[in-house]
Amino acid sequence: MMDAKPLYGGIEAGGTKFVCALGTGPDDVRALTRFSTRTPDETLAETIAFFRAQPEPPVAVGIGSFGPVDPNPASPTYGYITSTPKAGWPHTDVAGAVRRALGVPVAFDTDVNAAALGEHRWGAAQAVDTFIYITVGTGFGGGGMVEGRRLHGLLHPEMGHIFVPRAPGDDFAGVCPFHGDCLEGLATGPALAARWGRPGHELPADHEAWVIEAHYLAMAVINFILTLSPERIILGGGVMHQTHLFPMIRETVQRRLNGYVQRPQILDAIDGYIVPPVLGDRAGVLGSMALAAEAL
Ligand code: ZN
Repeated sequence: MMDAKPLYGGIEAGGTKFVCALGTGPDDVRALTRFSTRTPDETLAETIAFFRAQPEPPVAVGIGSFGPVDPNPASPTYGYITSTPKAGWPHTDVAGAVRRALGVPVAFDTDVNAAALGEHRWGAAQAVDTFIYITVGTGFGGGGMVEGRRLHGLLHPEMGHIFVPRAPGDDFAGVCPFHGDCLEGLATGPALAARWGRPGHELPADHEAWVIEAHYLAMAVINFILTLSPERIILGGGVMHQTHLFPMIRETVQRRLNGYVQRPQILDAIDGYIVPPVLGDRAGVLGSMALAAEAL
């Protein structure tokens, strides 16, 4: 037992589901559970019960949360979910509830920044220090690092709510409750379902839905390439399980950039530039586990 590593807790607090894990890394996950997100009281109680049931408790817990959140440790509302449109969750002290119940230090960030940290530590971003991690699912989230530091600032990136040029002929109104036809309103799972009358996973790979989807995701990727100059772009989330989107997005990015960004990663090796997460759907919870170490 002399070499026993301390165990870290990870909580991926998603708007649809929570994932909790205990371990030291991707190859040493001692326990993992997933459950649906309900009221804050019910959901946080189930989270705390999971960690209390473990034979060895975590020395610290990391939380990657849906948002918007307050990720500023100097703020009185650090660790809160703040102005989310999700019913019941605005102004919820997620980090404080976990810290008080388990009596261990807690680190907190957005779900996508946590996933980015996981991919930087163990996955597709190990060799780069400036990159972005995007998830396209129930929502569109974006996070990442600039020169090895996770992206924060005024609040944190909200990459899903940018405005992008319309796909030719597309007049769908969009589903974002704030903006209608922002990127999140046009290109997430709920947007696919509203636009086509059935969920994306029921649409065949040759459906025109994917041409439109690839257009919007490529426009987003181009904007992020030109604003943040990332060395890699990781695309994850439920919509990206449609792996046929990857070649479509890469082709559109190359064609619309039109040779402007003269880097081999884009001109010659884009298959290694726009990539899926190596940690797959565990990126968020494993990244939260990595985040926990920062609380000590
Ligand atoms: Zn929006």
